[in-house]
Amino acid sequence: MKYTDFALARRKMVQEQLLARGIKDERVLRAMMKVPRHLFLEEGLWSQAYGDFPLPIGEGQTISQPYIVALMTEALRLKGDDKVLEIGTGSGYQAAILAELAERVFSIERISSLAAKARRILDELGYANVLIKVSDGTYGWEEEAPFDGIIVTAGAPEIPKTLLRQLKVGGRLVIPVGNEYSQTLLRIARKESGYKEEDLGGCRFVRLIGDHGWRA
Ligand code: SAM
Repeated sequence: MKYTDFALARRKMVQEQLLARGIKDERVLRAMMKVPRHLFLEEGLWSQAYGDFPLPIGEGQTISQPYIVALMTEALRLKGDDKVLEIGTGSGYQAAILAELAERVFSIERISSLAAKARRILDELGYANVLIKVSDGTYGWEEEAPFDGIIVTAGAPEIPKTLLRQLKVGGRLVIPVGNEYSQTLLRIARKESGYKEEDLGGCRFVRLIGDHGWRA
């Protein structure tokens, strides 16, 4: 496939998978139109990169379906000056989308080989506003807290309190919560007093493994 074919595949993805299913935030749609998703995958998968499904990225992990990436990103309601935390760097694709929409992105991955691959491609694409660290993301990133947005791209058995505490007042946490086979995507907004929870629908993610997630 040529460069123009990938750009066309992206346009089709935005129209048929995102706009058609109700993604409205212009900034999210523009970011999804711009970021070359195929470059976050092994070359053998490039022809499938813009399909309506998750794909393997090695180590038994996946890059999420484009619609889920767009839905979770839109739910964060980013303005451009935000500080965002991502748990589950994986391929680095979601981090690149966030980097288009926020000022600074802090991303945590527990598998070092995935973090290294993600770092390489993010550097090649010039995303200098993404910082990656290898650790158990269920602890969050205390030294950089609080965050305007926190996005967890792996399924948790329950909402880690550690992450709730690292949200700014007015900030949003987007996280899939449920059992190992299916989860509900939740948005939790931190208010002056307490938290407000919304159900954004069903989803299926790989497990969030850590001290405040699933045991390995
Ligand atoms: N956001 C990724 C992307 O754009 O490719 C997809 C993430 S993949 C569905 C989930 C990732 O979460 C995996 O790479 C997995 O290793 C990671 N993960 C699971 N538990 C974690 C934890 N406690 N801390 C950090 N990363 C974790």
